[in-house]
Amino acid sequence: MEQTDVVIIGAGAAGLMCAAHTARAGKQVLVLDHANKAGKKILMSGGGRCNFTNYYVEPNRYLSHNPHFCKSALSQYSQWDFIGLVGEHGIPYHEKKDGQLFCDNKSSDILNMLLSECEQAGARIRLSTSVRSVEQTEEGGFLLELGAAKAPEQSGYTLKTKKLVVATGGPSIPTLGATGFGFQLAKDFGLKVYEPVAALVPFTLTSQLKQLSVDLSGNACLVEVSCNGQSFLDDMLFTHRGLSGPAMLQISSYWKPGDTLTIDLLPGLDAAEQLRADQHSHPKQQLKTWLSHKLNQTIAEKWLEVMGFRLDATLASMNGEQMDALAKVLHEWQVKPSGTEGYRTAEVALGGVDTNELSS
Ligand SMILES: Cc1cc2nc3c(=O)[nH]c(=O)nc-3n(C[C@H](O)[C@H](O)[C@H](O)COP(=O)(O)OP(=O)(O)OC[C@H]3O[C@@H](n4cnc5c(N)ncnc54)[C@H](O)[C@@H]3O)c2cc1C
Repeated sequence: MEQTDVVIIGAGAAGLMCAAHTARAGKQVLVLDHANKAGKKILMSGGGRCNFTNYYVEPNRYLSHNPHFCKSALSQYSQWDFIGLVGEHGIPYHEKKDGQLFCDNKSSDILNMLLSECEQAGARIRLSTSVRSVEQTEEGGFLLELGAAKAPEQSGYTLKTKKLVVATGGPSIPTLGATGFGFQLAKDFGLKVYEPVAALVPFTLTSQLKQLSVDLSGNACLVEVSCNGQSFLDDMLFTHRGLSGPAMLQISSYWKPGDTLTIDLLPGLDAAEQLRADQHSHPKQQLKTWLSHKLNQTIAEKWLEVMGFRLDATLASMNGEQMDALAKVLHEWQVKPSGTEGYRTAEVALGGVDTNELSS
């Protein structure tokens, strides 16, 4: 029977990183993955340029039922260690904004770096291999039954390992090989698992708002979106299904079904005050022109129409009440999504193994 020190299930970012470090520490390491290629999600990340770390990684930036859990890992391996590794491999990168570091070229630079780290450390990677069962042995190790991923009818073979790492990732983007395997295994071993929920995911809309987003599909504007006590100032993108863009992806991690988003379409501007000032300086200006100077023309016109405002109303024709009403809805546009696009497009999932049950 084949034996090894460490088996890692999952050749994604986590599994490959773990493999390189564990093999460097002198262990015999075997990484297993049912996919035919390692690190498929890495290739897709950051729009193909992998946002591989952030200058401002800190424990309080992590969402967790146990906010202390990440501290020990982050204190032992920080963003600076990873930036150092990227530098050693000569990978060119740049800061996009807010400390986000992206590859200048392609995400494959990061994947190739991890694969080369694994190779140099002597970690082996076996692809197209499925794990059919996992059992704990009396000595505290693990017995795995493996088989060819695409031939479940073929008889499997067993493998013994002293340590087992489960790095099978979350359920987002099933087409890239994501499964609920890790969470099921955790449950089988008696760990509490919070049901995963799609996060960093676009919202879907219905009826009139859906039509607005279809009509404006491809248009983006800067907004401040708020929900459940959290706010994000970033771009919002209208899509054929609803709302996306960094602001929406971020707030999706705080949104629950049935919640309403409050969207400030003119963050940083006092619309009521501006309307009054412009009424004096440009009384003949039409409402659509006024708003087109702040949002783009297409968004301004469609939005005013759907919200029931007269596009050709001049500023002079508006009374104080009308200006206040417009300002309020521009700053506090209430949007109730019908849902999210789910795991099909979600970048991550919330939930998973309760970290209160694990030693950090
Ligand atoms: C579109 C998109 C863009 C993203 N952009 C970024 C970004 O720019 N920056 C960032 O930090 N994060 C980004 N993310 C998130 C990031 O990609 C993931 O958080 C990260 O890749 C997760 O790594 P992982 O190793 O935990 O899991 P995964 O990458 O999901 O790897 C898990 C591996 O386990 C394998 N596996 C699953 N089940 C089994 C099984 N039963 N048997 C054998 N193997 C199995 C899978 O095939 C897979 O290879 C993005 C995600 C998406 C979808």
